[in-house]
Amino acid sequence: MEPRNCRRCGRMFGYMGGMPICDHCKQKDEEDFQKVRQYLKEQPGASMREVSEACEVSVEKITRFLREGRLEVREGANLVLECESCGKSIKTGRFCENCSKQLERDMSRVAGTANSAGKKSDDDDSKTKGGGMKYLRSE
Ligand SMILES: [Zn+2]
Ligand SMILES: [Zn+2]
Repeated sequence: MEPRNCRRCGRMFGYMGGMPICDHCKQKDEEDFQKVRQYLKEQPGASMREVSEACEVSVEKITRFLREGRLEVREGANLVLECESCGKSIKTGRFCENCSKQLERDMSRVAGTANSAGKKSDDDDSKTKGGGMKYLRSE
């Protein structure tokens, strides 16, 4: 156990491994997570913003739950995540299946040197239009 600052609230706490978050924040996260999960069970078609407002949980946090793979987006749900690499819509995590396979391969070949700046401007554009939310591009 080592003393560390909580990544959320900045308080010192005894770090035991895993995410550098104090017990208080961890518990709060858990409560928020349960709220979001429960809400999605009742309103599977809710958008990120609706969930955020109804549960009083920030969009960033909901996105993080998705990215961490704790929440899974069901068929027809409006919670949309994009693969951080190719922008394809995914249900959970950070990358689509193809990209995670690709990444695994790259990872084992070379460690480090990421260059994904390619189509960033595109994504940023759709982000601003959606008011911080990202929607599926219809195609
Ligand atoms: Zn904390
Ligand atoms: Zn991808």
